[in-house]
Amino acid sequence: MMYSKTVKNGMITITGVPASPGIVFGKSYCYLKKIIKVDKSSILKNAIPQEVVRLEHAIERSEYELKKIISFAANQVGKTEIKIFEAQILILQDIILLEGIKSRIKNELTNAEAVVDSEFSKYQSIMLNAKDEYLRERAHEVEDIKNRIIRNIQQEKLTSRIDKNVIVVSEALTAGDTILFSRNKILGFATDGGGITSHSTLLARSLQLPAVVGLKDITKNINHGDLLIVDGYDGIVIIRPNEETIEKFNYEKTRHDNFEKKLIPLRDQPATTLDNHTVSLTVNIEFMDEIPIMLKQGAQGIGLYRSEGVLIGRDSIPTEDEQFTEYEKLASTVAPHRIVIRTFDIGGDKIFSEQNDEENPSLGWRGIRISLDMPELFKTQLRAILRASTRNNVDILFPMVSGFEEIIEAKKYLSEIKDELQNKNIPFDKNIRVGSVIEIPSAALLAGDLARELDFLSIGTNDLLQFVLAVDRNNERVSKLFNRFNPGLLRLISQIITQTKSENKKIAMCGEMAGDPLATTLLIGLGLDEFSVIPDILPEIKKIIRTITLKDAKEIAKHALTLSTSAEIQNYLQDELQKIIPDIPLSH
Ligand code: PEP
Ligand code: MG
Repeated sequence: MMYSKTVKNGMITITGVPASPGIVFGKSYCYLKKIIKVDKSSILKNAIPQEVVRLEHAIERSEYELKKIISFAANQVGKTEIKIFEAQILILQDIILLEGIKSRIKNELTNAEAVVDSEFSKYQSIMLNAKDEYLRERAHEVEDIKNRIIRNIQQEKLTSRIDKNVIVVSEALTAGDTILFSRNKILGFATDGGGITSHSTLLARSLQLPAVVGLKDITKNINHGDLLIVDGYDGIVIIRPNEETIEKFNYEKTRHDNFEKKLIPLRDQPATTLDNHTVSLTVNIEFMDEIPIMLKQGAQGIGLYRSEGVLIGRDSIPTEDEQFTEYEKLASTVAPHRIVIRTFDIGGDKIFSEQNDEENPSLGWRGIRISLDMPELFKTQLRAILRASTRNNVDILFPMVSGFEEIIEAKKYLSEIKDELQNKNIPFDKNIRVGSVIEIPSAALLAGDLARELDFLSIGTNDLLQFVLAVDRNNERVSKLFNRFNPGLLRLISQIITQTKSENKKIAMCGEMAGDPLATTLLIGLGLDEFSVIPDILPEIKKIIRTITLKDAKEIAKHALTLSTSAEIQNYLQDELQKIIPDIPLSH
C-alpha cells in the first residue's frame, strides 16, 4: 500500500499501512513524545557516588514500572506478548552495560543521563541503519528503555493517564505505550512511523484496537481534539471528516461489524464447500506472538512458518538446541495441527542481506542456495526440525528452489541427518513430509517433476509474481504492475496445480494471494488443496469457501482463464463474489 495524502475543504485523508483491523470514530489525542532533553555536564570527583546513586535509583524505578506494565499486560494479552517487556527488564539487569555506564561516569566525570544517552544511542543507531525492517522496529524499543531511564534520572513523571475514548495520534508508539493506553480504553491509534511487524502493532491486534501506521506526517496535520476516522482495514485516516464522509464510513463500519458477527460461529467449522469439498485453511506466521490470534481464528495449523524469525535480532546463527527449543515450542503449541517449517530464506529482501552486497539480491544468494552452499548451517537446522517432529505434526519446506537438482541435494542432507539421529537413538518423525515453495518460474514449469520427488508443493505468489512479471515486489515505482490477477500468472498457477495433482500430491498456496477474498473462488476452482493466509483474514476466506460449490468455482475459474487483462479478471471475480455474498465488505 502506498502513502498518499489529499486535502479538501479542511478535510485531510491520509493513506498509510493498515496495521490492525476495525473502523473507529473519535477525538484525537496527540501524544507527541516530549523530546527528552539531555544536557551533558561535568561533575566533580566527589559527586561520583551521588551520580551513581541517581543512576541506580532510576534503573530500579524503571524496573518497577516495567513490572507494573507486565502485570497489567498479563491480564490483557497472551504470555508471549509480554516478552518484549521482560526483554527490557533484562537490559536493565545487564551488569556489563550498567558497569560500563558507571565507569564512564567515573572516568569521564560526566552526568549519568548524558552517559546513558550516549551508550544507548550507539545501539540505537546501529539498529536504525539496519536494512532489516524488524531490527529497525526494535530500535524504537531501545529508545523506549533509554527514555525511561533518563526520565527517571531526571525524576520526571510518566504520562500514562490520558483521556478515555480517544484515538491516540503519535510519531510512534512503543509496546509499553500501547499497553498503558489500552488501560484508558483508547479507541485506536494512528502513527507517523511504524511497520506491521512492530510490537505495538502486534499488541494492537491482540487488544483489538484498530490502527493505521506509516502515515508519515499525521502528527503535523492534526490538532488535539480534532475529529478523526481510523480505518484499519484499508489503512485510511481522515482528519476533520465532513458529514458525507462520516456517513460513508459509518455504513462501512456497520457492514464490517455485521459481516464479522456472522463469521464468529464459523470458527470451529471446516472449510468445506456446499457440495462437500474440503480444503485446509492454515496461517502464515513468523513469531510466537502470533499463535494466540491464529488459534482464536480457528486455523487448522501453520501452513508457513518463516523460520527467519529465530534469526532476527541476532548477529549469529542460533545453535541447534536454541532452534530446537523454538521449533519444539511451536510444534507443541499447535498440536494436533500441523506446522510447516520453511528452512531459512535468508538474503533477498530478508535479513542478513546487508552482509552480501549484491546488485540484484532477489536474484542472488538466498534461500535454499545459501543452505546448500553452507551445509553445516543447513544440517543444524534440519537436525533441530527433525528433533521437534516427534508428534508427527511437522513438515519441512524448502524456499527459492529453481530446479530438480536442488531438491535431490537437499533431500540427501535430510536423509544423512535422519541416519545420524537414528544411529544415536534420537526420536523423530521418520515419515516427515517434505515440500518446496514454488516461487521461481523454472520451478513452476517443472512442478510435475518436483512433485514426484516431494510430498507437497506450496505456491509462493509473492516471489513468483515478481519473477514472472519482472516487477520488484518492494519497488513502489512499479507497484501498480504488481497485480496478482495478471492473466499470465493465473495460467501458470493453473498449470502448477494441475501438474501437482496429476502426481497425486497436495498443492498449497502460502503467498498473499491465498488470503485475497477475490481469489478464493478462483483458487478453489483451480483445485488448490490448502490456503495458508494471514490470521486476520482467515474467517472471511472460510466464509467464502463455505458459501460456494466446487462445481460453480470450476466454472468461474474456467472463465477467468479465458480473460486477457488483469482488470477484466478482477472485475469478473468481484461481480461473482458479490453475487454469492452480497454483504461482503471488499477493500477499495
Ligand atoms: C512468497 O514468496 O510468496 C512467500 C510466501 O514467501 P516470502 O513472502 O516469505 O518470500
Ligand atoms: Mg518467497
